[in-house]
Amino acid sequence: MDCQPIVDKTYKKVLAMENSGNVASYIPELAKVDDTKFGVCLTTQNGEVFTAGDATVKFSIQSIAKVLSLSLVLSKIGDDLWKRMDFEPSGTAFNSLVQLESENGIPRNPLINAGAIVVCDIICELFDNPKKALLDYVREVSGIEDLQYSENIAHSEQQTGYRNFALANFIKSFNNIKNTCDQVTDLYFYLCSIEMTCEQLSYTFGFLANRGKQFNTGKTIVTPNQAKRINAIMQTCGFYDEAGEFAYKVGLPGKSGVGGGMVAILPGSYAIAVWSPKLNKQGNSYRGMKFLQYFTDETQDTVF
Ligand code: GLN
Repeated sequence: MDCQPIVDKTYKKVLAMENSGNVASYIPELAKVDDTKFGVCLTTQNGEVFTAGDATVKFSIQSIAKVLSLSLVLSKIGDDLWKRMDFEPSGTAFNSLVQLESENGIPRNPLINAGAIVVCDIICELFDNPKKALLDYVREVSGIEDLQYSENIAHSEQQTGYRNFALANFIKSFNNIKNTCDQVTDLYFYLCSIEMTCEQLSYTFGFLANRGKQFNTGKTIVTPNQAKRINAIMQTCGFYDEAGEFAYKVGLPGKSGVGGGMVAILPGSYAIAVWSPKLNKQGNSYRGMKFLQYFTDETQDTVF
């Protein structure tokens, strides 16, 4: 199906609206980004690619990468993951500590910071060189052979990552972190530092639209049931305290990051990535939300 006319029409509509919100400034490196950037890319199971705007400009994917660390760990240890965390929506901000106290250091889900930090701890347990293992995995899934971590972004977040240090230490006090907090937060900051373009990101997430198999190559990244479950977790937890609104407005599983990126999946069909750095109050891209809402309203694509 030729999606280009609807991509173009929706892009123009959102571009003409006010570009509201603020770029994330608590990570100094992210505050330097040009907030007028706006890119879209939709990649289909059949290999079609539809783009608009800054689709080939690299940006920091931040928490979108939490889906990839989750895929890696699920493919390695399967349901044992759920001994260390839950898969329930949190209804709280991405960096919240509040539920950990009453829930004995068991994070609500793997897509909030607390859960992603425990996932990083598991990666540290599984591999001798966790940073390399994670990068190799993301290279494989994305097909970007020369992908590197962004040292600038990782270091920048390391300087100001007080919340994440607090989370790691708090979880460790319940014995749900096995390595040192420094090892685990280091891996977490590098995970969040990964950069991709909208084109690369939509291809990377194709496996979740394709029963766990990479677009083009057909290589198995996760099993069909793991893909189903990752999509379910994105649907219920991918947008933190805005997950309900995203489901209501967009109707697809998806994930956001504070770099202003967003991906959404139509299982059996496509993955779409949108990037615009200004964020709403919940830390999700303002234009990204608008674009995906108008796009799926127009195409009537939904999982519901
Ligand atoms: N690196 C960011 C943080 O830990 C990721 C948050 C996000 O993208 N929502 O604060």
